[in-house]
Parts: sequence; structure tokens; C-alpha cells
Amino acid sequence: MRRLSIALLLIISILPFSVTCKTCRNPVSDDGTNDNPGEAIAVTNGVMIDGTGSEPVPDAVIIIQDGHIESVGTASAVEIPAGAMTIDVEGAYILPGFMNTHVHSGYDEGNLTQWATSGVTAVRDLGNFADSPGEAFAKRDARLRDNENSRLVAAGPLVTTVDGYGNYYVTTPADAREKVNGLIDSGADLIKIAIEDNLQGRRWPMLSMDEIRAIVETAHARDRQVSAHISRSKHLDMAIKSGVDDVAHMIVNDLPDSLITSMIDADIYWVPTLELWKGVSEYHDLNWDNTAKDNLGRFVLAGGKVAIGTDFDGYIIPFELGMPMLEIELMREAGMTPMEIIVAGTRNAAHVCGLENELGTIEPGKIADLIAVDGNPLDDLGYLLNIELVIHNGEIIRDKTDD
Ligand SMILES: [Zn+2]
Repeated sequence: MRRLSIALLLIISILPFSVTCKTCRNPVSDDGTNDNPGEAIAVTNGVMIDGTGSEPVPDAVIIIQDGHIESVGTASAVEIPAGAMTIDVEGAYILPGFMNTHVHSGYDEGNLTQWATSGVTAVRDLGNFADSPGEAFAKRDARLRDNENSRLVAAGPLVTTVDGYGNYYVTTPADAREKVNGLIDSGADLIKIAIEDNLQGRRWPMLSMDEIRAIVETAHARDRQVSAHISRSKHLDMAIKSGVDDVAHMIVNDLPDSLITSMIDADIYWVPTLELWKGVSEYHDLNWDNTAKDNLGRFVLAGGKVAIGTDFDGYIIPFELGMPMLEIELMREAGMTPMEIIVAGTRNAAHVCGLENELGTIEPGKIADLIAVDGNPLDDLGYLLNIELVIHNGEIIRDKTDD
């Protein structure tokens, strides 16, 4: 009997403690509040900025149950369930968790925990150059099991032509279909491609239009989005015509109005990476940062959709780890309003991650990734650094509300 129970204990102890939801890759952790899946959390006494672009809601209450947002509204309209753990944020501003939708080195656990505790609860890695796709996605899955880590959305390698800009080669449209299917079979959350032939005198052969179309068609048939590295307008035209879902950098030459219109008509999102262009411009004494800001301002004014992304660790310059404040400041300089920037860091960011139905806004049914900051970010986005509370997958991973 004793021997049997030890055997039983051994079996139980080797069972995985974490499960991953197929569509959302939402880890259910073995620690924290999910130990009591029935226990609700009530976040009270906050001003809610819900990520949709709507006006802030004062005296807001958010009920979280089983990792998801159960109900949302003003204190008079929302009933707090009996036995709920209540967190009084004392007038702090509650927002969806922020995201950085263009990073590298996103598989690094130290980076992921730093992002998460800074309120960046999801990142999208757009190019792993160190691991095979199988190794990369296994690493991602391991990172997702620890709820202290920011959620990692992973493209795996950067798809390109032979010897092109990137590290995963396709040779023909048929080969492109096979390779993209292979990446998705291995676990790719999305596909990243390069449409690039020349950066500062470094030259590369480039994917053909037929190959790009084959990549996009294959990815879309499998319900995966395609993000395209582009730096100049002549390639933007190719990206739009092939039907990619987002452009991973603002372009750094003249952006014709006609292409702005085409981007908006095709509902293609832009991830500006102004921090990258500022660093590159300082390093090489260029004016690309100002061109990029000017282009972004015109795109936003015309009604274009933007998601925050910095290209963290994507070039030999220092990048900000944590809340991407430099990127946010540069977006302000480009003319975006604080509310537009908040939407870019939340709802629109979730969209380019392919997770718009799961994340990015504070609405019933969504995964509970929330932050609270001490100060109104609509007055000063610098308050995004005053993190009081971070809830990730319904678990409290940082709480300074009692300090
Ligand atoms: Zn990059």
C-alpha cells in the first residue's frame, strides 16, 4: 500500500503542471491565484482605459475569474462575487497589458520577466537567428509555462531567398509553400519575411513576387499572419499587393500618399520601430529617424492603424528593455495622441499578434492581462513607468498597491 502510494505520488509529480490552450497559448500556471481556480479577483477603485480608444471610465471595477475578465463596469453596475479577493488600486489608471510587437531575443527568460514586470505582458519575436525552428518553438513553449514571463508570440526564423536578408531560405513558390507549412507545423505563431535588397550598401537577392504571394497564401490558409520587413517604398508596394498583414518597420524614404491610401484600404497595420531608426541614424549619421516620424505622422493622420514595436535587439545599438518609453516618446513626436499610442500598445498590438480576440482590451471574455499605473497616462505617458499592479493570465505578478 505504501509502495503504491509512493508510485502514485511519482506519477502525479511527473504530470505536467501547466497546460497550453491551443488557440491562445495561454499558460495556466501551477502557482499563484490559479491554485484556486474558483476564486475571483476584483480590481476596484480604478480609472479604466480599456484599449479600444473609448473615454476613460472612472470608479471602475473589473472582475477576473479563471484567468479571464468576467465583467467590467462602474462600481454601481458591477457586483463583486462573494469571497472575491479585492485589490483597491486607489484611483490608479487600469489599462490592458502593453505589448512590444517587434522584438528579437524574445526567447530569453531574463528579457521576458523584465518585460512582464514592467507591464509589457506580451512580445512578438520577429526573428530568431540562433535556433532551428523546432528548437525555437520548444523554447517558446517552455517560456509560456512560467507566468512570470511575458507572453511570447514567435515567428521563428526570418524567411527570405537564398543568401537574402534573413536566415530561412526558400528557392521557388512551391518550396515557399512547403517551408511555410513546415514552420507552421513546427509551431510558428506567424510568418516573418524580408523584402529587402539594399541597406547602406549591403546588398541581397530578394524573394520574387510569386514567392511572396505563395508565402502569404500558405500562411493565411493556415490562419497565420505575415509580417514583412521593409525599409523603402518600392518594396512596400510589393508587400501591399501580396497581402501581408503588417509592415515591421516604418519606411525611411519618401512615402507617397497613394501608398498610404493603399495600406489603409488593405487594412495593413504598421509597426514603426522608431527607436531602431533613431539608433541607426545616430550610429550612421543619417536622417532616417525624422523621415520615419514624418511618414508615421502622415499615415496616422490619414487613419492608418499602428502597433507599438521597437525592434529590440535587432541591431548593434542599445534598446530599451521593459516599457518602450523611447518608442512612445518618438510616436508622440510623430504627432500621435496619447490615446492613439495606448491603442497602438494594446488593441492594435494584439491584432498583429493574431490575438485580437483574446487580448488587447479590457472586455468580458478576454484573458486578464492588466496593468495599473499611478497617474493619468493621457496627461503624461511617462506615468506608464509608475507600475502599481501587473496581472498576467489572471495572476497577480506584481503588486505595489499596498505600498
Ligand atoms: Zn527586427
